Amino acid sequence: MSRPGTRTGEAYYITPDKLAQLVELLPSVGSFRDICAILGLRLDVVRREAAPFLAIMKLNGTHPQCGCGKDRFHPYGCADSYAKSWPADCVPGRTRAESVIILERRRIALEMLVDGDRLCDIDRSLGMSKGGAKNYLHFLTPEQMAEREQNVTRRRQAETQPQRRAA
Ligand SMILES: [Zn+2]
Repeated sequence: MSRPGTRTGEAYYITPDKLAQLVELLPSVGSFRDICAILGLRLDVVRREAAPFLAIMKLNGTHPQCGCGKDRFHPYGCADSYAKSWPADCVPGRTRAESVIILERRRIALEMLVDGDRLCDIDRSLGMSKGGAKNYLHFLTPEQMAEREQNVTRRRQAETQPQRRAA
């Protein structure tokens, strides 16, 4: 699927994984520039990819708010958004450090999912409540999903074979 007007260049394209991370960051991050810094994407890419999700949030009444009372990410900035662009006090809900932890936890969860780990084991090892790992399932690409299914099957066979031999 090609979009009209797409240019080449790594930062211009967004992988499904980065898109998922972007969506997860939207409610907590202070500015598009912070998303650029965390995900290594260009500002115009972040703005373009975030737009449909922010439109949905707006409709649902869950659009994140700026301290000045406008919708967050509003153009031209304001005293509040300038203050938040300082690394020391960028705390609209979550700090940058917390964002890093969230992303790292998800990276590990996705790795374990692809490896074929059981959902309850992933929940336990990442200290998430029951069902946490299940929420990460829809971040997997079709290829990663196929790889997970293969690994789950392989693990099941490895688990049942010794029993067969013993019987
Ligand atoms: Zn503002």
